[in-house]
Amino acid sequence: MFIDPFGRAITYLRISVTDRCNLRCVYCMPKEGIHWQPRVDQLSVDEIVRVAGAAVRGGVKRIRLTGGEPLVHPHILEIVRRIASIPNIEEVTLTTNAMLLERLAQPLANAGLKRINISLDTLDPEKYRRITRGGKIDRVWSGIAAAERAHLAPLKLNTVIVRGLNADELPALARLTLEHDWHVRFIELMPIGNTQEWGEGFPTPDERYVSVQGMRAALSAFNLQPASQPQGSGPARTFRIPGALGTVGFISPLGEHFCESCNRLRLTSDGKLRSCLVVPNEVSLRGALRTGQPLEEYLHQAVSNKPARHDLQVAVSAGSQRGMSQIGG
Ligand code: SAM
Ligand code: SF4
Repeated sequence: MFIDPFGRAITYLRISVTDRCNLRCVYCMPKEGIHWQPRVDQLSVDEIVRVAGAAVRGGVKRIRLTGGEPLVHPHILEIVRRIASIPNIEEVTLTTNAMLLERLAQPLANAGLKRINISLDTLDPEKYRRITRGGKIDRVWSGIAAAERAHLAPLKLNTVIVRGLNADELPALARLTLEHDWHVRFIELMPIGNTQEWGEGFPTPDERYVSVQGMRAALSAFNLQPASQPQGSGPARTFRIPGALGTVGFISPLGEHFCESCNRLRLTSDGKLRSCLVVPNEVSLRGALRTGQPLEEYLHQAVSNKPARHDLQVAVSAGSQRGMSQIGG
């Protein structure tokens, strides 16, 4: 069992299977993309599965695949199938932009995927194209429909709220839960790898941030009632519009610390274990993987590196941040 120095059991691993992505969301990546890690530095399918196996033997119960965009990985179905069949794993889930989901939802479910989180920041097709720098919102909707047909439920929608961009859509996005059993989670913008200008027509860095308190104020007319957390909600605070089928959640990495209940480790696509999203303290597994050494000691080291809590402002101003797509947000 992995227990960190502050008594927290580590039961959740997020694996970034690739740093590549088929979109360039303004808050996540620069227009020209990032400098992709060389293929040889990226973990192979066998290596990813070995780390997952060692983590599950140490007490990890849930694994989320992310990226970059996990569905651009050419062997994503094999990764899901092999991780889902690790003895004692409770669930494998995935976070995606849904561009490739329509075709992959049923094969993913067949491979053992249990649930899916889909990122959608706006209901406006033109705004979606601008935020993602070229994405087509129709593909998100057809991906959502395919995920529902494949019973990848309950479906979660992740929405990063940015003032001057989509904050005006908070009520419309929350209203989706009236008729759909979806969990819409509003996420504070994190100043990770994105403090530069996003280009013409986008808000400046100091105008963009909206706190969860600000988001809840924008939804006050809905009379949100506290609701029980859907499974795997991690740090979200969850509410329901009275009578709604789904819930709305708020994720606040900046405003309200959720460090006390942090149960996670992250594996980057180049084989580094990160103990915290924002503390750039990494344990490299690649050497051990490629020389056939046991991984347990490295996993324990990453667990023992977990800080009591992070200070996002300090971490960000200290620099040396990798972007979200590299860490596996
Ligand atoms: N490509 C997949 C997707 O977009 O769902 C998975 C990887 S993406 C890095 C995971 C999540 O991180 C997405 O929901 C995205 O909106 C969120 N994200 C990326 N950059 C962020 C930022 N600067 N602040 C808050 N959330 C961010
Ligand atoms: Fe790609 Fe996801 Fe980052 Fe958007 S948020 S650029 S879809 S990794």
